[in-house]
Amino acid sequence: MSRTVILGGGLAGLAAAWSLERAGGEPVVLEREAEAGGACRSFSEGGFTFDLTGHLLHVAREETRELLRGLGVWDGLVEHERRAAVVIGGHVTPYPVQINTWGLSDEVRRDCLLGFVRAWCGHDDAEPADFREWVLDRFGEGLARHFFFPYNAKLYRAEPEELSVDWVGRYVPKPPLEDVVDGALGLHHGRVGYNATFRYPAEGGIRLLPDAVAGRVRGLRLEAEVMAVHTGEHWVETASGERFHWERLVATIPLPRLLDLVVDGLPEEVAAARRALRWVRVLNVALGVQGDAPTDQHWLYFPDPELPFYRVGFPSNHGRVAPEGCHTVSIELSLDAEGGEPEAAAVAAEAALAAAGYLEPARVRVRRLAVLDPAYVVFDHHRAGALAVVEPYLAGRGVVTAGRWARWTYSAMEDAILDGLGAARRVFGDAGP
Ligand SMILES: Cc1cc2nc3c(=O)[nH]c(=O)nc-3n(C[C@H](O)[C@H](O)[C@H](O)COP(=O)(O)OP(=O)(O)OC[C@H]3O[C@@H](n4cnc5c(N)ncnc54)[C@H](O)[C@@H]3O)c2cc1C
Repeated sequence: MSRTVILGGGLAGLAAAWSLERAGGEPVVLEREAEAGGACRSFSEGGFTFDLTGHLLHVAREETRELLRGLGVWDGLVEHERRAAVVIGGHVTPYPVQINTWGLSDEVRRDCLLGFVRAWCGHDDAEPADFREWVLDRFGEGLARHFFFPYNAKLYRAEPEELSVDWVGRYVPKPPLEDVVDGALGLHHGRVGYNATFRYPAEGGIRLLPDAVAGRVRGLRLEAEVMAVHTGEHWVETASGERFHWERLVATIPLPRLLDLVVDGLPEEVAAARRALRWVRVLNVALGVQGDAPTDQHWLYFPDPELPFYRVGFPSNHGRVAPEGCHTVSIELSLDAEGGEPEAAAVAAEAALAAAGYLEPARVRVRRLAVLDPAYVVFDHHRAGALAVVEPYLAGRGVVTAGRWARWTYSAMEDAILDGLGAARRVFGDAGP
């Protein structure tokens, strides 16, 4: 089999390597950090276990189930029925809000219901030009104003008209009118959405998944940050100056970073496409707190613009990640791709969470900050065109991309694993197993 080098030892890179090795290949995985797992790592401190941010497993495909059984981790993953809520103006109602407005204030509930009915009556089949039009057409003015617009503005740090609708289908369910009316009256009891149930390790945090694969990959090289990629001469070089030649390169590192590492020059249209890629970082403030959790919810969404965070999780409500008598809190807020002061943002976030009634600052025992960079690809109107230039360019140079950030998309852990296996199949396709 041809010599394969894999950039990045997150789930996608590990899955690709494991699959290639099982087929008799000898890939090398170059991972920057001292441990594998990428965004799916977990850290222990003071008796608490923190994921890099909330990582809950949604398994949609039988192939993934089989694979996790084969890795011996399936039985350690406990299934949970989602308990998630939306908090608007201090009122708490179950997620998804569009079929659960009953918990909101009368005024907000009226806005949401009236807006939905008006949109329902006024719906036409015209293609929405942007996320703004899509939301108004599907959900109406009230849900747009109270939830969709402020929530997504906080998450993506972009106005709704700046966003395309390429990403929404699977993640934002549209309910029938009857469900919305029932939901306003508190009569709705169905499970909705791709994340209605999820799995999470009984203990040890989400690192159970990458650890299970990493332990089986022989060619994993840690603390091997790739600093240069030569797509013409087919080599990569690490920070220590070690050079690795490849016939196929599987890249799972973020796409902008990959393009920045190319030392043999990018054609101008590829360089321009690279400059068009837009993303946000996420600051995760993980807290280990004395006492019982302030809610039994797994996570809460906070669309209100005056609160800095968009989502807060309580991971000890679904895994053994805190000592007896303690709980964990996971605050997420978006940061622009550059700038900002994470420490100051964390302090402000904790204060706001305390003011909202979900944290007693004096009871915080452990605090851990992490910045995921990139975290969310911004699906603006340039993204699709930029990818249409970059993807064929890389493919033509023998580079296969896999995983959330190399593919420059919105996807989950299951997708990263399947993408890694798919990348291995593309390598087989060239050389045969
Ligand atoms: C805020 C947030 C919440 C999420 N929540 C969920 C969830 O609840 N459920 C879910 O299923 N998914 C969730 N995800 C998505 C999930 O994290 C990803 O789909 C998955 O981890 C992607 O794996 P990957 O291998 O593609 O990328 P990564 O995990 O990023 O792996 C890439 C690896 O490349 C390494 N690397 C980078 N640069 C270099 C270099 N120059 N040289 C060598 N190595 C390098 C990195 O260290 C990293 O280990 C979430 C993501 C975010 C940002």
